[in-house]
Amino acid sequence: KANRLFHPADTIVDVAGIKVGGKEKIVVIGGPCSVEGDKQIMDIAKSVKEAGGCMLRGGAYKPRTSPYAFQGMGTKGIQCMMHARETYGLPIVSELMSVDKLDEFVENVDLIQIGARNMQNFDLLKAVGRVKKPVLLKRGLANTIEEWIMAAEYIMSEGNENVIFCERGIRTFETYTRNTLDLSVIPILKEKTHLPIIIDPSHATGDWKLVESASLAAIAAGADGLIIEVHNDPENAWSDGAQSLKPERFKEVIDKGKAIATVI
Ligand code: PEP
Ligand code: MN
Repeated sequence: KANRLFHPADTIVDVAGIKVGGKEKIVVIGGPCSVEGDKQIMDIAKSVKEAGGCMLRGGAYKPRTSPYAFQGMGTKGIQCMMHARETYGLPIVSELMSVDKLDEFVENVDLIQIGARNMQNFDLLKAVGRVKKPVLLKRGLANTIEEWIMAAEYIMSEGNENVIFCERGIRTFETYTRNTLDLSVIPILKEKTHLPIIIDPSHATGDWKLVESASLAAIAAGADGLIIEVHNDPENAWSDGAQSLKPERFKEVIDKGKAIATVI
């Protein structure tokens, strides 16, 4: 179903009115790694909107390496996101970690993120395949492009063809960066599939100083969009502060990106 051979035209995924894919415009999604409360997400949503971002990200259920680390605000976090959407009109993106929360996400979230660690959670993939909500399918930490396409196929084969790929870097021997950003996936996925592909330069690099160049490179390579971690106080963020951009830097990335492509 994802194969370009049987579907020559680019698929454009409609996320609450925002069109992702096609050749004309790219989307930039911004927001914190984790929702930390009403005021935090409202402040960040305001700056994402003012900078020219078109969607708000924010994790409420977090796949943390340590079980003792902050696990996300859960339902309260989703409600904070909804409140920000109401005020700023930005569709919201959040990660779904288990099938038992699917109804909550279908009801409240505009774009359901499947995180890297769940890329091959086949029950979860099939479950989001049975609904109509758009799905942001992140590449697994150490998964091949073939495995990633097959993960999309799991979703699509159940009937949901609204899948957006998201490259977020893969594990290599390199330690200077958190992950290694594989930009070659953009032309490869565009040749093999008809689905949109966006890049997450934040998790790909792990370092806010590297986010701008990775973002601009991704746009130049033909990505359909970016999803960037933005925080109003990165030093004190509850997760992923080191890779989060301050709002003014996020705006700079968008402004420079506009010199390369049209940003929605
Ligand atoms: C995230 O988006 O905050 C996240 C946990 O991403 P990934 O699944 O790519 O690690
Ligand atoms: Mn994160």
